[in-house]
Amino acid sequence: MKRLVGVSNRTAAGGPKAGGLAVALWDALVDRKGLWFGWSGEVADVARRGVEIFDEEGVSFAVADLTHQEYDGYYLGYANRALWPVLHYRVDLANFDEDQYTCYRGVNRRFAKLLYQRLNPDDMVWIHDYHFFPMAQDLRDLGWRGRTGFFLHVPFPPPEIFKSIPDHKALCQGLCANDVLGFQTISDCENFKKYAISELKAVPIDDDVIDVNGRPITVRAYPIGIDAEEFERLANADEAKKAAARIEPFLNDGRALILGVDRMDYSKGIPNRFQAVGRMLDDDKHLSRNDESALQGKVAYTQIAPPSRTKVDEYAELRKQLDSLAGQINGDYGDLDWIPIRYLARSYPREQLAGLYRLARVVLVTPLHDGMNLVAKEFIAAQDPEDPGVLVLSQFAGAAAQLASGSILVNPHDIASTADAIREGLTMGLSERKRLYEIARKVVYGEDIAWWRESYLHDLDPDLASRNSA
Ligand code: UDP
Repeated sequence: MKRLVGVSNRTAAGGPKAGGLAVALWDALVDRKGLWFGWSGEVADVARRGVEIFDEEGVSFAVADLTHQEYDGYYLGYANRALWPVLHYRVDLANFDEDQYTCYRGVNRRFAKLLYQRLNPDDMVWIHDYHFFPMAQDLRDLGWRGRTGFFLHVPFPPPEIFKSIPDHKALCQGLCANDVLGFQTISDCENFKKYAISELKAVPIDDDVIDVNGRPITVRAYPIGIDAEEFERLANADEAKKAAARIEPFLNDGRALILGVDRMDYSKGIPNRFQAVGRMLDDDKHLSRNDESALQGKVAYTQIAPPSRTKVDEYAELRKQLDSLAGQINGDYGDLDWIPIRYLARSYPREQLAGLYRLARVVLVTPLHDGMNLVAKEFIAAQDPEDPGVLVLSQFAGAAAQLASGSILVNPHDIASTADAIREGLTMGLSERKRLYEIARKVVYGEDIAWWRESYLHDLDPDLASRNSA
């Protein structure tokens, strides 16, 4: 079997192997005694720019520090302030800076050089995410000929949006040095292919293959999954039960828990969601709290929103906006014995989240754009099959391509309809809840993280493909 070399900005060195990418790559690398290459997470002086090598449970790690200038230019700057917003359809928030692009290119070249020194001709390289769009090209320029694949964890927008990046062409030419390009959804694939056909003169060969400058490239959707069985186990474990017990006092008198769990990122649509909850309560304003259909006092919305990228201005702005909206809605609709929104700007371990998911009657996954959204899948895996909660899901989450018929699908920009969808979830009868859950469960367990990894590696590794067809 070929050795697998994983490349991602952050590796799972040292910490628990939790979260989609970390688990998926880790298992593949353990299987193949692989190498994981990436940023060490340290920002250091120029003098310490080599690679640190170590082993963990049979997996080798090679990690390099960033300099302060690289951290600002490549990571905070180009990756977070140019690529991330455009890939999430937010050209209005993007900041394009030539120096930051130069720095991004420099880090890709430097990292490619460090990696190339450690590659064996028979290795197979699997590069992850937008931090390393040009990495495959940089490896090729150094003489690398082996199988190389790329997987984009975030959306790929339509060409009209992607082309707002001044260096869009160079980025995509770099991508085309891969043998396999993986996206989260068919729609992301289609956007990329449209771009490649119009800008790079790519020629479609069949549904999943394009030819760019005489090289065939497989372009396919591999929607990332979770370790569903493991998550179900977490949801039934003590730590989950303890977390649920902490929130239960706020659910007295049969109050239903509405839950949101998102990194505090503008792509997650948290302000829209607050407004939708406000709108739902407003719709009942004319009713007294004793009225059977009134939701005042009968629901408790908890939003977990750990702050992220706090050094980037747009994120600091979002924080202010959420603080203000939550305060306003609680002020407008709360009562002596009831606060509608509990907004917690901190993170909780997945072991605890699992217990909250299981307790929730409705979970709100309403991003404006999201590559996949693993919270949606974790919520399904955590449910009690005899009394499942309801997933309210944005049509713009990658997960919607798989879970549309197992959820209530919403347009998060449509505040009034989202409010209605939350109400529908809260009042849905058991048999309909079970019906939706069963549909979603089949997907989450069938197309889990092992399925994702194997589907991708099947296309990347010609040995596997020929063994399976033999
Ligand atoms: N998560 C967590 N603690 C928190 C909030 C989120 O462990 O307080 C985890 C969550 O369980 C999920 C991941 O972070 O596994 C978020 O992944 P998702 O695809 O939903 O969004 P991303 O943050 O990658 O954009």
